[in-house]
Amino acid sequence: MIAVAESPRIGFVSLGCPKNLVDSERILTQLRAEGYQIVPSYEEAELVIVNTCGFIDEAVAESLDAVGEAIDANGRVLVTGCLGQREDEIRARHPRVLGVTGAHAYEAVMAQVHQYLPAPHDPFLDLLPPQGVKLTPRHYAYLKISEGCNHRCSFCIIPQMRGDLVSRPIGEVIDEAQRLVESGVRELLVVSQDTSAYGVDLKYRPDIHGGRVLETRLTTLARELGRLPAWTRLHYVYPYPHVDELVPLMAEGLILPYLDIPLQHASERILKAMKRPAASEKVLARIRAWREICPEITLRSTFIIGFPGETEEDFDRLLDFIQEARLDRVGAFAYSPVEGAPANELRGAVPEGIKQERLARFMEIQAQISRDKLAAQVGRRLTALVDEVQADRLIARGPGDAPEVDGHVIVEGGWEDIDRGDFIEVEVTGYDEHDLFAEPV
Ligand code: SF4
Repeated sequence: MIAVAESPRIGFVSLGCPKNLVDSERILTQLRAEGYQIVPSYEEAELVIVNTCGFIDEAVAESLDAVGEAIDANGRVLVTGCLGQREDEIRARHPRVLGVTGAHAYEAVMAQVHQYLPAPHDPFLDLLPPQGVKLTPRHYAYLKISEGCNHRCSFCIIPQMRGDLVSRPIGEVIDEAQRLVESGVRELLVVSQDTSAYGVDLKYRPDIHGGRVLETRLTTLARELGRLPAWTRLHYVYPYPHVDELVPLMAEGLILPYLDIPLQHASERILKAMKRPAASEKVLARIRAWREICPEITLRSTFIIGFPGETEEDFDRLLDFIQEARLDRVGAFAYSPVEGAPANELRGAVPEGIKQERLARFMEIQAQISRDKLAAQVGRRLTALVDEVQADRLIARGPGDAPEVDGHVIVEGGWEDIDRGDFIEVEVTGYDEHDLFAEPV
């Protein structure tokens, strides 16, 4: 008989954005590869890793609270992720933390794990599924194509925390995508800090994949991912000129007709203060052109309201823009300073009351646009991906709905042969504020 030693048990807490989630998946994959067990409670764990977010003040507070909770419940805690950059602050608040590492410091995290909870040596332990360990449901996955960012937006500290852009070679990204699809993933969500800049740092260096030479470039990657039997959805795409090349791929049905473009504002003055490209007129012209090439394209964006120096005139410019652009999905946030960001030095802070009042006006206008957009879907046929099978209905998503941020397509009726991750054909019959209602065809 072979005695198999019990695997060391690790608890894992993952906070923050999808990009951080991908980091968590990598660490978990490595832990599983080395034979660690991941357990769901603090009580069972021999060591807890907290992967933190430090993007805005609320995220910092949430991360510090999570570290405190893990220390109280377990006592043996490693901290990693964006907040790890502020080691002094973490140690001041939680002196019992065993170790701190920064963002995407996989090897450093593993070194600390080995120090505090040595890996088992068991040649019979081979528990790693080929696609790695995923935190998303089995049928969709985030595919991170680069780290860091070459921009220096004045409200953001990501470049300070994560450094300049580092793209993954295209062959490596396609390999990962193939493994994910082979393991049952039906939707790939391409993420990075700046997806359109993919490959710039590598000067679009050619890479060999499947006997072919491919340039490390977003259009090439989108075309290759489009060949896989899964949806490909692009997030965080800056409207650089070459983004126009992606829209014909959407019209051809290779990738989803969906673009998530964070525009942040429309006033040239505010965009300059944000240190972002300031050309709203051009953006409008391009949106018109994209819609001509691919009429079913869904456009999502985010905006910051009440940035320092924003006057009523700047804000009106933004309202004019959203009324003209008629974007399908919009997220808007009242500006809040991020510790360490250059924008904190700017004069002209907008009083909180005015920020909130502008945000409410903005949301009211956009809510009407979003309602009109959903109403226009009634009668349309579409393919939807099933997220959840309930007793009397299916919760699915169409090409215009990204998981977690957009709405759903709700299909009433009892279902027997449908599972999570199946594609179904439906006709839209109604809508409410966020979701569409549909019946099968
Ligand atoms: S593009 Fe701007 S907001 Fe986005 S990560 Fe880079 S610096 Fe931050």
